[in-house]
Amino acid sequence: MKQLVAAGLLLSLNGAHAATQTVDCGRLLDVKSGAWRERVSIVIEDGTIKSVGPMTRGADHIDLSTKSCLPGLIDMHVHLTSETQPVVDSYRDRLTADPADLAFRSVKYAERTLLAGFTTVRDLGAQDGLNVSLKRAIAAGAIPGPRMFTAGKSIATTGGHADPTNNLSHFLSEKVGTPGPEEGVIDSPEEGRQAVRQRYKEGADLIKITATGGVLSQAASGQNSQYTEDELKAIVSTAKDYGFRVAAHAHGAEGMKRALRAGVDSIEHGTLMDDETVALFKKTGHWYVPTISAGRYVADKAKDPNYYSALVRPKAAAIGPQLQATFARAYKAGVKIAFGTDAGVFPHGENAKEFGYMVEAGMTPIDAIRAATVHAATLLDQPQRLGMIAPGYAADIVAVDGDPLRDVKLLEQIQFVMKEGVVYKKL
Ligand SMILES: [Zn+2]
Repeated sequence: MKQLVAAGLLLSLNGAHAATQTVDCGRLLDVKSGAWRERVSIVIEDGTIKSVGPMTRGADHIDLSTKSCLPGLIDMHVHLTSETQPVVDSYRDRLTADPADLAFRSVKYAERTLLAGFTTVRDLGAQDGLNVSLKRAIAAGAIPGPRMFTAGKSIATTGGHADPTNNLSHFLSEKVGTPGPEEGVIDSPEEGRQAVRQRYKEGADLIKITATGGVLSQAASGQNSQYTEDELKAIVSTAKDYGFRVAAHAHGAEGMKRALRAGVDSIEHGTLMDDETVALFKKTGHWYVPTISAGRYVADKAKDPNYYSALVRPKAAAIGPQLQATFARAYKAGVKIAFGTDAGVFPHGENAKEFGYMVEAGMTPIDAIRAATVHAATLLDQPQRLGMIAPGYAADIVAVDGDPLRDVKLLEQIQFVMKEGVVYKKL
């Protein structure tokens, strides 16, 4: 909290205030062309960029004249209302933590993410409406955090990756009851439509489905197909009626293909994609959000016999290590890639490590930065507002030392963060 600029926070609470600010950048990355523009001043009015031109120094300017400026980073896959912990603690929380306990914890996750340079995130699933409430608190200026687009609670089928009652004892199952469309568990096209409409009613911005098994759910398979094509089509067509995009978690190839054919906008993880799936990505033009960070983290934690449950550990060991190689193949094949990490599966605020993993797997630094700016903004359906430093765009600006096109890991050390004209981290 020390790094917050008090005046800036007041400004965000008082949105009507007509503030003009100027930021002087030693150089500015044009993410589209990949070229640096030297000595630039960015003029901002009411949180929106008015102009970008040659540097005009002024005593009241924000001085980043020794820094490299980039658009605020965008992570397309986070879970801001939870964070990884040993299985024993997860079970303790399940018995003793109230939604409000989890909500208060998420305040620091949101702040860490913003201070790491991520000014926008897509939150792909939380319980009890926590991510929708967190979005509202951040948007109102009550707490610092990234601009959020949320899916509310993920939609799954019975026993699926996002069924919150997996593997409970009979005693607890009886107490908790059988979840339905309201809780995001569906077993027919009808219930799929109802679940989408429920999310609309609750204030979600998009839909997340778990198209196949997953690593961290208390269930046997990490990759089986979990929806019929009819169910997927019902969800996607209803989502379109409400202006929602659909993100599909998937590890197994068959579930990925069904989801792509049904018209989802992005596949998350995509671990076991085969050549046919790659071809389908290219044919449909849908996006791939790799989350290599999560794969590496769970593979590492699977070596600790006490970290995950006996059901989860072998899945983490088998699926986690494959993600980076899948990403390398998809990138080489020309699949459209948007940056996403699955933060929450690993500690929040370490999102930028993904850049290093992407480049390690063969992506150029500029393409990795594009994935986290212009491409993410396109997948969010915000290409005129986010992902660029240009007139008309939100004043989301981060700065680093040196040249991240030469050393992409510099993005792990963000020196300055502005979101919508408000400074949250200053030099
Ligand atoms: Zn996730």
